[in-house]
Amino acid sequence: MQMHNSEAVARWLDEQQDAMVRLLSELVDIDSGSYDKAGVDAVGARLTRFLSEHGIDVSVTPNADFGDILRADVGDIRRSGHRHNVLLLGHRDTVFPKGEVSRRPFKIENGRAYGPGVADMKAGLVMNAFVLAAFKKFAPETPIVMLMTGDEEIGSNSSREAIMEEARSAVAVFNAEPGRASGNIVTSRKGMLYCRLDITGKAAHSGVNFTEGVNAIAELGHKIVALHDLTRVEDGVTVNVGLVSGGQSVNTTAPHASAEFEVRFVTNEQRDAVSAAIEAVTAQATVPGTASTLIGKSSFLALVPTDESEKLASQYLGAAEDYGLSIRGEFTGGCADSGFTASVGAPTICGVGPVGGKAHTTDEYIELPTLLQRAQILASTINKVVAAGR
Ligand SMILES: [Zn+2]
Repeated sequence: MQMHNSEAVARWLDEQQDAMVRLLSELVDIDSGSYDKAGVDAVGARLTRFLSEHGIDVSVTPNADFGDILRADVGDIRRSGHRHNVLLLGHRDTVFPKGEVSRRPFKIENGRAYGPGVADMKAGLVMNAFVLAAFKKFAPETPIVMLMTGDEEIGSNSSREAIMEEARSAVAVFNAEPGRASGNIVTSRKGMLYCRLDITGKAAHSGVNFTEGVNAIAELGHKIVALHDLTRVEDGVTVNVGLVSGGQSVNTTAPHASAEFEVRFVTNEQRDAVSAAIEAVTAQATVPGTASTLIGKSSFLALVPTDESEKLASQYLGAAEDYGLSIRGEFTGGCADSGFTASVGAPTICGVGPVGGKAHTTDEYIELPTLLQRAQILASTINKVVAAGR
């Protein structure tokens, strides 16, 4: 008797637990900071080898500076805006510098796995790769695209277009950021703008020619107050000037000053409003003779829930319940690529990777049993999405 495809997928994944841990340990033990193109591409090469061993081709969009964009698919993929494919999203870069792996390689202790990027998000990549392989084997008609990018931790400047393009044909997007420490997934996220403000003044000896000088630091002081005044904590809009620099010497009127700041918001309308306000603050000089320029360094769009994404979340949470898990979707102030897919209208849920915590720190971990568990729930949700004909 032939097993139903979804049972075959689940059963095969069950048998892959050790193989999943082995692949995870190999990926974690490759340094792949966002600026380490060779490392990010080495992680891609290892994933490519895994996928090709399972009969899945990987296509490469080369990038000169950051990790290449890798894409694999199975099944009856359709393009051109028609919502049809399931999209599994993941990034291969980490926040850690070269050499981090030699200081603290992959290890397992008391049911948790540790190492640079183990939660954010090498475990998520392993999960995606095994789920794709399972469908290729047992339900090969299921249309699934897996995208593996290389610069998420620095704002996805070189991969956002590819992500959004893929999302335009997606009926469901699953971003493999780690599940919350509580076990919950993420159904809404803040967006972010990261900017630099450069101010020029005019240097003069502060004792001899004070009135000939123009102090850029004085102007920066006014601008910091004005920027922080844009914060509306109750609405979820915050502005934080986190770095400042400037000046030449204590007895010179400061010829230059700079600030780096970031803005968080809940909706993309708030983003437009606060952006306009920041432009106005930049243009308005309180200290006569100063000039200011604003440079947008990077940005993330907010993951704003929709009826369709809520429906996807409830399918996922229902699948989790079938595995005896009582979890829910939550909001986080952190940003991720899921904001880009949501912004083009693709039903998106995030934080569907294995459960972990302390991301971006040396204590980063995942709960090892959730590597298989989240793969099972993801596979089961994909089956529900396809069965519902969405
Ligand atoms: Zn991440």
